[in-house]
This record gives sequence, C-alpha cells and structure tokens, in this order.
Amino acid sequence: GHAAVLRDVTVRYKATTALQSIDLSIEHGEIVGIVGESGAGKSTMLRLLDATEQPTEGTVLLDGVDPATLGERGRRRIRHRIGMVFQGFNLLSNRTVEQNIELPLRLQRRRDPELVAKLIDYVGLADRAKHYPAQLSGGQKQRVAIARALITQPTLLLADEPTSALDERTTAGILSLLERTRRDFGTTIVLVTHELAAVKAVCDRAVILERGELRDIVQVVHGETQQ
Ligand code: ADP
Ligand code: ADP
Repeated sequence: GHAAVLRDVTVRYKATTALQSIDLSIEHGEIVGIVGESGAGKSTMLRLLDATEQPTEGTVLLDGVDPATLGERGRRRIRHRIGMVFQGFNLLSNRTVEQNIELPLRLQRRRDPELVAKLIDYVGLADRAKHYPAQLSGGQKQRVAIARALITQPTLLLADEPTSALDERTTAGILSLLERTRRDFGTTIVLVTHELAAVKAVCDRAVILERGELRDIVQVVHGETQQ
C-alpha cells in the first residue's frame, strides 16, 4: 500500500476551488516536495494529509484508510501517527527544549524519558536540553520542532516551509536532518516549500501546484530535476 493516495480530489470553499481533480500517490519512505505559489493549494493539501480537511469530491487514503469513513476519534488516532513541522517552529516559549519535545506524548497521557533523551541527542541538542527557545538559534529551534514531531514515532512527517525562516547554511543542516530521519526511521516526508534548492537537495519527487491544479510531477535524480 501507499503512505497516502489522493484520487480525483477536489476541495472547494464556497466560490474558491482550492484543489481541482488531484491524483497523487505517495510511497512509504518517500520524500515528496509540494511546490507552488501562494494560493496554489499547498496548505489545503497538507490539511487533507493530516485528516483535518475532507475533500469535496474524490477520495483520500492515509495508510489505506479513508479518514472520511472514520469518526472524530478515528481521525485523531490517525493524527497521532503524523508529525508536523512549521516555518515558525511553534515552540512553547515557557517550556524547555526537553519539555517541548515531550509535549505530544503528554497530550496522549504517555511518558518516555528515554526516547526524549535519545531524540534530543539525535537532533544534536544534548547540551541544550534545559534551555528555553529564546536561548536558541533558528536552526536549533527547528531541530527541537523536528524532535517534537518525531516523539510519537510518526510514519508520516508533514513539513510546512520548514527552512523558509533560515539562512542557507542552517537550511542545509535541517534538510540533511530530514534526510537522516527518512533513512533511520523510514519516515515518509512531505515537504511544502517555495525553494527549488530544497526540492533538489532532498526530494525524490516534486509536485508542482498551480492555482489548485496539479501542473506537473517532477523526478529528482542526483540532485537535479528531470523533465
Ligand atoms: P497555499 O498554501 O498554496 O498558499 P491554500 O491551500 O492556502 O494555498 O489556498 C488555496 C486557495 O483556497 C486560496 O485561494 C485560498 O484563498 C483558498 N482557501 C484556503 N483555505 C480556505 C478556507 N478555509 N476558506 C476559504 N478559502 C480558502
Ligand atoms: P524498534 O521499533 O523495533 O525498536 P526501530 O529501528 O524502528 O526498531 O527503532 C529503533 C529505535 O528508534 C526505537 O527504539 C525508537 O525509540 C526509535 N524510533 C523508531 N522510529 C522512530 C521515529 N519515526 N521517530 C523517532 N524515533 C524512532
């Protein structure tokens, strides 16, 4: 099976068609880029993939399951298997690195101090565990956010412009962390970005959206996009 399938999916908001007749299959362990200008439908696609949005027409399958056939509890269970990373990091400023990373587990009434410590180490912040977000660089904040996303051991990681607030060198570090995550944990990664360089650096394929339509799917081979 696939990590995610969109079958002839259309999403409409009143007068606006956010996505039109989209067909897309995402393989397990794939890193897929979603590229397009503002308003192209990228966020809408992410909301389909985390089961917070239902298509107006067509079918979405997440790990073979159609969220539309589930109740709110079932959709919440799906979301527990999905990690999310944002452009603005979305860390809690009054919680330490450690506490931020642990938060998703706490929300599920779980604890796993060993995995917390392991992931802090994995993202290279072992000496920052007791620091607060304000004491970290942008790249370090995004590493915390990635560790927080991985704490529930998601099969799918959704990254919404994760490097857009970062400089070039920091960006390279974050992209290589995403690549390492896929390699070590087999995580499927969907990377929304307007940066073609990010697509070439880590993606296997890029989906080009234009005003809600799937304009093209581009393969990346040896760091170059193929026609
Ligand atoms: P992107 O993330 O690529 O900027 P979006 O998915 O946010 O694109 O938006 C696609 C289109 O759908 C835009 O025209 C946007 O204004 C519209 N849209 C998105 N969400 C809503 C909503 N909740 N209500 C009404 N229109 C929306
Ligand atoms: P297992 O799950 O059988 O222990 P894995 O190779 O899948 O073997 O994982 C090794 C360790 O890495 C696990 O103990 C787990 O704590 C951690 N791990 C596995 N998958 C993830 C993931 N997606 N995100 C974060 N940590 C993970």
